[in-house]
Amino acid sequence: MITTMRLNNNGHHLLRKGTDEVTVISEPGKERPDFVQGAYSACAVCDEQPTYVLRDGEVHAQDPCAHPMGITTEVTLDVPSGKLIVTDDLRDVYDTDFFAGADYNTALGQAQVIQAMAALGCAFGPVGNSCPGLYRNGADTYVIASVYVDEDTDDAPALPEPDRLARICTDLWAYMLADFEDWKAKGGTPQGRMLGDHTVIDVPPGTYKITHHTGEHSFDRDADLVEFAHIERIAPFPAP
Ligand SMILES: [Zn+2]
Repeated sequence: MITTMRLNNNGHHLLRKGTDEVTVISEPGKERPDFVQGAYSACAVCDEQPTYVLRDGEVHAQDPCAHPMGITTEVTLDVPSGKLIVTDDLRDVYDTDFFAGADYNTALGQAQVIQAMAALGCAFGPVGNSCPGLYRNGADTYVIASVYVDEDTDDAPALPEPDRLARICTDLWAYMLADFEDWKAKGGTPQGRMLGDHTVIDVPPGTYKITHHTGEHSFDRDADLVEFAHIERIAPFPAP
């Protein structure tokens, strides 16, 4: 029997935007469908492959998602020198296996890489091919964002250009931030890089919290203003 049914995703992210139905192949009287078509094979957030059950004319993911709101990833970065290198790729110094944990295409897999990179001293985050900027939005707070500019009217950059401290070219579809002196001490050489591929900005020395948003359910990468990450100094350096 082939039926179209509503999928109760139990907090998982299993369907493309704008649909809540799947095609179910099942035998009458059986609790478990033989096949569910039209859903992802694994949750785009937690990477679990759901077990489906049929109940009340709907198909349900049996076990709830561990991250029903998606994943917000917070890391800290020490910037004792007050010089922050901003670019897409610092794997010459800070590198980790992107495929060691959950599928990197899931929010969980990306959160694991964000944490692993932070442990090495690099604030990393995936941003797609968005070429975002790093903007100041307070005395010691910053945001990594991309702004949609209407080419016909030049309308609506919500973040004014003068506050943009760095542009991040996204050959790697990511941003990476590190203490410039730490990067150099670990072997990074500015002269070894292509001109214009990185920016070094002055920030108040301290410990920064970086809150990365792309794994959140409410994250909308098609918005006019997309805020990928917020950066906030949480302690001065040296700590009192
Ligand atoms: Zn899930």
